[in-house]
Amino acid sequence: MAEKSCQSSCLVIGGGISGLIAATVLQRHNIHVTVVDKGRGIGGRMATRRIRHPEYGEGVFDYGAQYFTVTDSKFQSWVDTWIQEGVVQEWTRDCFSHNQHLSNGEVYYRGVNSNRSIAQHLAQNLNVYTNTKVVSFEWQGDRWQVKTENNETFSADALVLTPPIPQTLELLERSQIQLAPQLRHRLEQVVYHRCIAVLALLEQPSMIPSPGGIKLDGEPLSWIACNYKKGISPQGNAVTLHASSKFSETNWEMDNLAIANQLLEAASEWLGSQVIEFQVHRWRFSQPQTVYGEPLLALTKPGLLVMSGDGFIQPNVEGAALSGLAAAEYLLKNFQSK
Ligand SMILES: Cc1cc2nc3c(=O)[nH]c(=O)nc-3n(C[C@H](O)[C@H](O)[C@H](O)COP(=O)(O)OP(=O)(O)OC[C@H]3O[C@@H](n4cnc5c(N)ncnc54)[C@H](O)[C@@H]3O)c2cc1C
Repeated sequence: MAEKSCQSSCLVIGGGISGLIAATVLQRHNIHVTVVDKGRGIGGRMATRRIRHPEYGEGVFDYGAQYFTVTDSKFQSWVDTWIQEGVVQEWTRDCFSHNQHLSNGEVYYRGVNSNRSIAQHLAQNLNVYTNTKVVSFEWQGDRWQVKTENNETFSADALVLTPPIPQTLELLERSQIQLAPQLRHRLEQVVYHRCIAVLALLEQPSMIPSPGGIKLDGEPLSWIACNYKKGISPQGNAVTLHASSKFSETNWEMDNLAIANQLLEAASEWLGSQVIEFQVHRWRFSQPQTVYGEPLLALTKPGLLVMSGDGFIQPNVEGAALSGLAAAEYLLKNFQSK
């Protein structure tokens, strides 16, 4: 095949699962791809953190997405590849009920080392800039010029925007990109739950039974997980708590100590041990309450720009991945027809 004299380029804003999958597919098709993310690490809401203690070891906490499920055959083939590569494994088929082992036939997957490690695996062959927050972009001549908070500039033929939809709308506004009113209205309807997470390093193993996660539908907790039993925290008794969306909304401004006290107290029967250290994280956009209803939204004027992420078709990891795939497929078609 003749080598292309002019390689198309794409800047992907956001290094969560959606952006990383889009970037991977585009790069495989010889598009020059750069991924930028405002976070310190890659992965977005597939987030993992460590708390190290001289006496009680190192706790590894998945504190965003806890697991993921698969319904779509395209996504299944990505997951099967990750399993072969040793990056993903089945966590359980048990549906995280607190009083009995129940299965609804669904498989719950997790990253072998952590959920963030799936993102790190995808990012290893990509050109990625972290700590890089995009503040605006502009179509100049025949390319996008993208400005970051640190006054760097990136240029590209096409953009993929993958932040949660309210943040994408903010970026479009700052960049003075007009959307048709009905499209804007549909995007504004996508609102997200908030979620406060507490990461607690315990002195002793927790009382959370195997396989290490419990869905709690009461207040104030919606989920509790033992990362040691999950298998990602072999040297520390690391427990993740997720507050319900109601508690998170109501107590968003409360100070960390008061939040942790309430949530740890509510979890005490599952902890059964002293808390050595804790951290609180606030997810302003955890999971969408509603979605846009199509896998992506594309603009062709003033230049090629595609929006994707979990707010488009399915409010979870699989939905984000499928939306990223759809964004890449759309761009490949449109680059070819240029
Ligand atoms: C507490 C919690 C629990 C969850 N539990 C589950 C679960 O158990 N199962 C499941 O399937 N899903 C779960 N989810 C949802 C799942 O994590 C998300 O659906 C999925 O990870 C979203 O991926 P994404 O790529 O669309 O977005 P994100 O992962 O949010 O990626 C977007 C990225 O864009 C970056 N960004 C934003 N603005 C800018 C900017 N201006 N410049 C540069 N970068 C920017 C962000 O830093 C972020 O990394 C959970 C989420 C949370 C928070």
